[in-house]
Amino acid sequence: MYRKYRPDDFSNIIGQDYIISILKNAIASSKISHAYIFSGPRGTGKTTTAKVFAKAINCEHPTPNGPCNNCQSCLTFKENADIIEIDAASNNGVDEIRELINNIKLAPAYSKYKVYIIDEVHMLSTSAFNALLLTLEEPPKHVVFILATTNIEAVPITILSRCQRFDFHKLSINDITNRLKYVIKEENIAIDEEAITEISYISDGGMRDALSILDQLSSNSNKITLNEVISHFGSVSKKQINDIFNTIINNDITKFLEIMQKLKELAVDYKLLIRRLIDKIEEDAIASKKNPKYQGLSYQKIKEMTLSLAEISNYVNLNIEPYQLITITLLNYFPGNNSKPPLTNTEEQKSAIKIDNEPSIREESNIQDAPKENLNSPNKNANQDISDELIIIRINNCFVNASKKYLATVQSNWQEFSQDNNSLLNLIIDTKVVAASDKVIILMNDDEGTVNLLNKNLDILSNLYNNKYQTEYKFIALTSDRWQHERTEYIANLKNKIKYTYQEEKEPVIEKSNDEDIKKDNIEETALNIFGEDIVEIK
Ligand SMILES: [Zn+2]
Repeated sequence: MYRKYRPDDFSNIIGQDYIISILKNAIASSKISHAYIFSGPRGTGKTTTAKVFAKAINCEHPTPNGPCNNCQSCLTFKENADIIEIDAASNNGVDEIRELINNIKLAPAYSKYKVYIIDEVHMLSTSAFNALLLTLEEPPKHVVFILATTNIEAVPITILSRCQRFDFHKLSINDITNRLKYVIKEENIAIDEEAITEISYISDGGMRDALSILDQLSSNSNKITLNEVISHFGSVSKKQINDIFNTIINNDITKFLEIMQKLKELAVDYKLLIRRLIDKIEEDAIASKKNPKYQGLSYQKIKEMTLSLAEISNYVNLNIEPYQLITITLLNYFPGNNSKPPLTNTEEQKSAIKIDNEPSIREESNIQDAPKENLNSPNKNANQDISDELIIIRINNCFVNASKKYLATVQSNWQEFSQDNNSLLNLIIDTKVVAASDKVIILMNDDEGTVNLLNKNLDILSNLYNNKYQTEYKFIALTSDRWQHERTEYIANLKNKIKYTYQEEKEPVIEKSNDEDIKKDNIEETALNIFGEDIVEIK
């Protein structure tokens, strides 16, 4: 279908209006450069545009839409020996570039211009680039180069500086949907509206992928449904995204982990999942702004969530499974206890409503300030960096009355705990419990990245653990080197009879405010149980 519906003039090329208008002007004014470079993601129309442009500059009677598709030059375009296509990805292009240089001085056989279209030009070998550079420095008047690349950074600057550059961007969902609908009508394909939108989503801004998905599904004679698209192409449905948010609102961690596990098994691309989550967040953010009685997560919370989801790509190359990161990130937004859904008459909701009522200019500056503010604010509850001071205090507090008895209990729990929390798998499974008192558990892992990630997510860990074992533990994670060091010091202190004394954690750790909420909620709940809802008004 991609070939069949490949545009044959500028009017059918979608989503690149700015580029097309410049190229049209070049044709209309007969001002053709000697070298162009088209960069951008795959399937965005680079090669198609190159071909239409090549046809147009050789057309005998060009129209406002480029080639006339009627003249001798247009009609013989496909067989025209003056249009030379080279795919640099196939063989590094050395031989083809050499041949190109040998023949370049010869005048075109049939047309005004000899056009060289070099696809994936960044794949050329260094010697091929050097050869190409020589011809670009002094090109014969009858030659036009159109270079295309998905990786502009890999193209030498010496080449770029000799080309007119056009950056193609990803097509919007709307652009793709409209084009799909056109093809669907022409081909008489039976398909649900939702399925069309889904295909546009999965194709991630590339027309070629969108049409190839449609092609594969339409070979089946039945009507194409949303479920078919999702099951064939490992996508995530809007319902699943809504379910994820509902589990957060209802504080249903078990259900949440089930959904994440299922998406992982379906091999849904994690980037697609993040994009979907952020789309949903955008929807909720708008809803929360428009409607003061909005019942979902607070604006503040979804704003933080967006930033932490966007941060995930920074960690992906640490060899940590992206699904784990998404799971951990979202777990941050579950309330700290199982007794109550979040945001019912809490301070947070009040402050969220206050933000809602502020004038819109102020809101915008809020959004722009957000990343900085979040990095420095000690109250930020998502992915909080832990201070060295807090690490030292927790180690100290563990050593106050660490014992083999506590350690044995925690270690046996830990085995069960790590099996239960499958989605946190790699983080927990290679992590050992090395010391425990009645208040603090010290964890150890060889990998520094894992230790940092654990320490950023201690709240989740302690919530999950304490909920399960009815304890009030605080956690701290150390690298094995650091642990060896602390352990040696501890033993030396024991020998010298130096005692550890308990220290308060001075930092405003988020757990404390949660504890207060739990207390308040418990009082409220108990009162409600005794007196009934009508009489009780907690202040
Ligand atoms: Zn023509």
